Amino acid sequence: MVHFVGAGPGAPDLITIRGKKYLEEADVIIYAGSLVNPALLDYAKKGCEIHDSARLNLDEVIEIMKKADGENKMIVRLHTGDPSIYGAIREQMDVLDEAQIAYDVTPGVSSFCGAAASLNLEYTLPDISQSVIITRMAGRTKVPEKESVEELAAHGATMVFFLSAGDIDGLQKKLFSAGVSKDTPCAIVYKATWEDEKKFKCELQNLADTARKEGITKTALIIVGKVVAGSGYEKSRLYAPDFTTGYRKGTDQKD
Ligand code: SAH
Repeated sequence: MVHFVGAGPGAPDLITIRGKKYLEEADVIIYAGSLVNPALLDYAKKGCEIHDSARLNLDEVIEIMKKADGENKMIVRLHTGDPSIYGAIREQMDVLDEAQIAYDVTPGVSSFCGAAASLNLEYTLPDISQSVIITRMAGRTKVPEKESVEELAAHGATMVFFLSAGDIDGLQKKLFSAGVSKDTPCAIVYKATWEDEKKFKCELQNLADTARKEGITKTALIIVGKVVAGSGYEKSRLYAPDFTTGYRKGTDQKD
């Protein structure tokens, strides 16, 4: 059996309890070495076979899984953050389905949640934005035309850019041409929750300069939107004194 496990954003204690248990029990671990904190491998039992998938292609990963499963071994495929976000798990699952190898998924804390925590940020502030757009710049992987930076930016929602730190200059230009105002608050979070985490806030007009000055070219998220400033929002209705809910009588209700 293969357990796909979300490793969390970096700090080794941000893996889930279930994920940690699978790591402790695994006979074979295949981990995404380019992004997963190797400290997580300390949870592996003695004699566990460990592979870094950064050095492997899909066929090689699958071969390791097939061989181990044939020997009735328990396999953990450890992906950074949550496996459902840019995790390339579908293609692995499809081959496992074909080979009739059982698998399941243990979610993880995605880096966009780790980054929000590092910034003490709420992505969804009433009256500012109630949506978070998770996206990326096109690179070697294409992005559908309707999901171009320009199209998505038109919503004015909070945006989180994965896999785009290599071209922050290009990102800034695209946001400008989408009409996003120059003073829009932005943040760059490098290696959120890792010991060497770095975080910067700036305005859109300084985004590329900030990244250049700080030498950020990878393993970073770029957050764009007024929520980064954390001001000018409406308080939630849920906790408003005059708001009655199924659990609480508000001051709007007469006896
Ligand atoms: N599944 C992962 C994302 C994998 S794609 C998740 O849920 O977080 C890899 C990209 O994620 C990186 O290029 C970077 O943009 C982002 N990323 C992953 N870990 C990060 C971290 N700790 N801090 C900032 N960005 C991170």
